[in-house]
Amino acid sequence: MNIAFIGLGNMGGKMAQNLLKAGHTVYGFDLSPTAIQEFQTAGGVVSTNPQDAAKHADVVITMLPAAKHVKDVYLGDTGILAVLPEGGLCIDSSTIDPQTIKDIAEVGKSKNIQVCDAPVSGGTVGAQAGTLTFMVGTDEDTFNKAKNILSHMGKNIVHCGDVGAGQIAKICNNLILGISMVAVAEGMALGAKLGIDPEALAGVVNSSSGRCWSSDVCNPWPNISENAPASRGYQGGFATQLMLKDLGLAIEAAGQVKQPILLGGLVQQLYQQRCLQGHAQLDFSSIIQNYLPDEA
Ligand code: NAD
Repeated sequence: MNIAFIGLGNMGGKMAQNLLKAGHTVYGFDLSPTAIQEFQTAGGVVSTNPQDAAKHADVVITMLPAAKHVKDVYLGDTGILAVLPEGGLCIDSSTIDPQTIKDIAEVGKSKNIQVCDAPVSGGTVGAQAGTLTFMVGTDEDTFNKAKNILSHMGKNIVHCGDVGAGQIAKICNNLILGISMVAVAEGMALGAKLGIDPEALAGVVNSSSGRCWSSDVCNPWPNISENAPASRGYQGGFATQLMLKDLGLAIEAAGQVKQPILLGGLVQQLYQQRCLQGHAQLDFSSIIQNYLPDEA
């Protein structure tokens, strides 16, 4: 299959490599020369703009930082919807607000082009290993077409509902994650301050009712969870600034339907403070340093 891939960064670069490994021809575009270089070395065909990539393609995949980049790539001066033939399929895997992808899908529909959302969970490790979870928003037929391609990059491809439903699932999951990480950080920091060995505390929590992904797989206390960012100086995980972005999306979406998300608002401020303190690139579990800066 001929696939256009726009956005070859930390996630997209690795996802595109898995498509190349599966034998597809991939036409790639990114604004970053480093990302382009890595893609070319892996066997990708470099394009000069999104339209140049899309005009060769049966399917377009986008993996971009935020909604403004996604809008630009689909609808801007060199936007792909202007050149993709009728019957084309576009899959946006960026994490953005549900309304933006619905708006873009409407434009696509008027040209007989299917646009769906398929944000991911699994991070850069999952992107490299081809084990991502995709949360897909679209109709049944488009889902089945998209699933064939996404299965080269992920192992769980979940149909969440109509366009936008994938983004809803993604931002609600990350709302829970952002809150649960702060809860675990508070519990671990309090325990340490009160004098319990953090390893003993984590052992109890992980076999008790406080257990969650943040306590078990990604405990914020160093050297509790094997392979957790906390055990390597909070490097190479899910950046605090990306968690801040996702909580902002949850707050924006909650505002649109007037739904209170009280803890979401509070932890968003905590991650915002971390970013202002210069820790935007560290894994979000480094939030524990605000509770016990000398120990964690
Ligand atoms: P990234 O910043 O590493 O990559 C984004 C790439 O898009 C960059 O290489 C950038 O140059 C390129 N880009 C920006 N504007 C462009 C344009 N107009 N045309 C072409 N390329 C353009 O980000 P990432 O970590 O790969 O994340 C991408 C998306 O995936 C984000 O929405 C993020 O929230 C989401 N996500 C990231 C992770 C993670 O662990 N990194 C996990 C799940 C979801």
